[in-house]
Amino acid sequence: SFPRRRGVPEKRKIRDVKKVVAVSSAKGGVGKSTVAVNLALSFARRGIKAGILDTDIFGPSIPTLLNLSGEPRLDEHNCLVPLTNYGLKSMSMGYLLPQTQADSTTGEVPMDTTPISWRGLMVTKAMHQLLHSVSWGPLDVLVLDLPPGTGDVQLTINQEIIIDGAVIVTTPQDIALRDAVRGIGMFQRMDVPVLGMVRNMAYFACPNCGHQTQIFSHGDSDHSCGEDRGVMAQCKRLGVDFLGDIPLDARVCEDADRGMPTVVAEETAERSARRQAFLAVA
Ligand code: ADP
Repeated sequence: SFPRRRGVPEKRKIRDVKKVVAVSSAKGGVGKSTVAVNLALSFARRGIKAGILDTDIFGPSIPTLLNLSGEPRLDEHNCLVPLTNYGLKSMSMGYLLPQTQADSTTGEVPMDTTPISWRGLMVTKAMHQLLHSVSWGPLDVLVLDLPPGTGDVQLTINQEIIIDGAVIVTTPQDIALRDAVRGIGMFQRMDVPVLGMVRNMAYFACPNCGHQTQIFSHGDSDHSCGEDRGVMAQCKRLGVDFLGDIPLDARVCEDADRGMPTVVAEETAERSARRQAFLAVA
């Protein structure tokens, strides 16, 4: 196991939270935040008291995904009060750190002029607040949207709070998968149970005829490559559950962009395969 860093406090439980489920991916852009927010909303839709904590420093996306912004207020104990939408409590690095926003008319993103060292200090302070000083109220499940990768930030979070289980998001692509296997190794070494893998962008569902096309080579033996390198095969090899497939679907992206994730956007669409896919993972 990893050596404990000197002076690092013992892992703590997050106050008033029964279970913490981390959603992790080895690299960015595989749909980790999209899965995390839809997972949390699926819990909320089932009457489970749920929250989402976004610890992504460089690309916090929960504010956009939940259409929330603004600085959280502090309660009488100096704890951050979560912002809520669609019945889901949320807290994000994005609410705490000044974000460089694109100019609404030109679309240009201004340079972040905050000095690096100061930004570092702000990040450390904000991370501590996020992990230890949020008034979640009683929650059954807190979904933790981790930054991508297996670096220092992920280790620190793992050392500071008790994570009850981890969900790994990957795409069928080889590189993402190889990295995901490394991610599983990190959780196993930290004694965090890996709940399973989600295969995002698993196939493309044609909006016109419904035909499913596998865009990325799956690598599982029932596909063209012949070698057992796919998600299913890796799950079997590592003794990790396969939690389900999410289709690559323009609607998932559109829903995300307008701040109304698929699980909420298609609430009344009984037969939406996209929505069902997220609910099935939860
Ligand atoms: P990550 O958190 O891994 O960086 P995001 O959740 O931010 O990834 O997703 C990256 C981009 O891909 C976003 O624009 C998102 O809307 C899009 N996306 C994620 N999953 C899907 C999907 N299943 N179908 C279509 N677009 C998706």
